[in-house]
Amino acid sequence: MRRNLYDTDHEAFREVVQAFIKREVEPNAERWEAERNVDRAAWLAAGKQSIIGHLIPERFGGLGTEDYRFRAVVTEELAKVGAASVSSGFGLQDDIAIPYIVDLGTEEQLQRWLPPMASGEAIGAIAMTEPGAGSDLQGIRTTAVKDSEDWIVNGAKTFITNGINADLVIVVARTNPDAGSRGISLLVVERDMPGFSRGRKLDKLGLHGQDTAELFFNDVRVPAANLLGREGAGFVHLMERLPRERLSIAVMAAASARAAIGWTVDYTTQRTAFGQPIAAFQNTAFELASVVTETDVLEAYVDKAILSLNAGELTAVDAAKAKLWATEVQKRVLDRCLQLFGGYGYMNEYPIARAYADARVQTIYGGTSEIMKTIIARDLTGLRA
Ligand SMILES: Cc1cc2nc3c(=O)[nH]c(=O)nc-3n(C[C@H](O)[C@H](O)[C@H](O)COP(=O)(O)OP(=O)(O)OC[C@H]3O[C@@H](n4cnc5c(N)ncnc54)[C@H](O)[C@@H]3O)c2cc1C
Repeated sequence: MRRNLYDTDHEAFREVVQAFIKREVEPNAERWEAERNVDRAAWLAAGKQSIIGHLIPERFGGLGTEDYRFRAVVTEELAKVGAASVSSGFGLQDDIAIPYIVDLGTEEQLQRWLPPMASGEAIGAIAMTEPGAGSDLQGIRTTAVKDSEDWIVNGAKTFITNGINADLVIVVARTNPDAGSRGISLLVVERDMPGFSRGRKLDKLGLHGQDTAELFFNDVRVPAANLLGREGAGFVHLMERLPRERLSIAVMAAASARAAIGWTVDYTTQRTAFGQPIAAFQNTAFELASVVTETDVLEAYVDKAILSLNAGELTAVDAAKAKLWATEVQKRVLDRCLQLFGGYGYMNEYPIARAYADARVQTIYGGTSEIMKTIIARDLTGLRA
């Protein structure tokens, strides 16, 4: 089905992204996967080419656009070359860290943090999850206690995307132990603050190029000037920004499914068995027909959500539906595509194998599928699941 999401500006930008990927990503992707890290040089190149920093106002060096379609172009092109690790790192920067700062930052914070984030010099992360609290964010134990004008932060976070490389970490901490969800605030911890340390690069099933890590805060003195948003409003700030984060994951899912179908059509039309291309077997043909139809339908849904975000109308419930549906379809499509590769589908040198492993986290991070269902069901019935 022909997609009509993009106009000529997006397609022109796509060529810039493709050139960036050819020059910076493709020659290095294997090494990044082995080293479990994306070079900082790639971030700097991405900054230079405006591959990242879209939302940052031009006066701070960004593209200054709220049109999410430019972000979707980056995600699609990275998916085509199987660079999910790069995509998740850039996505964290552009869809989470930067929007928090753009939306909530004081003028002084914008001036301090946005220019290096636009140029790729400063990599952002968000640290919500703790060893003992993920879905149940209100169970976090990291604390920030006032000491004259500063905050003293103590605690541990885990599974943090960009965790090793991050220069700015938006830390979700409890600033008032007696105020429940109204006792949570956001504090920006910077790279060299004494008491801030990083654990090991976590050994994951997929996303091997992603420097996902544990972070530790031991009496980290954070100046009042690094409080992001209002004291005690951290939970509300998080909730307000979830639609964009979840849409970003949904877009990644649709792009990954589309890319997988491309690889699978190429493979099944070339590989022969019993004297014919395997795509000529009715089962293969029907599988391809099913996955492409599911992906067309998914794209239409995700495209609608993108336009809805652009219009400022994407609700938390709609974003939860998009994330739930997109990531579950992605999982299904990748599994069925991999099957059509036979044994080669299980070999890491084939992009389908890595994409399959990379995809597995999509129904888990950014809120699990189960949590998406509780949000959707509560909206439907008015009852807490
Ligand atoms: C690769 C990767 C990158 C990540 N990046 C980040 C990051 O950058 N920043 C960050 O803060 N976090 C990050 N996370 C953490 C991620 O968001 C959490 O893992 C996720 O929210 C689930 O939390 P949990 O792991 O504690 O699982 P739990 O909350 O312990 O859930 C375990 C199981 O119980 C289910 N469950 C929990 N509550 C309910 C309920 N009410 N009803 C039904 N079922 C329920 C869950 O759905 C799940 O199946 C990342 C995780 C991974 C794996």
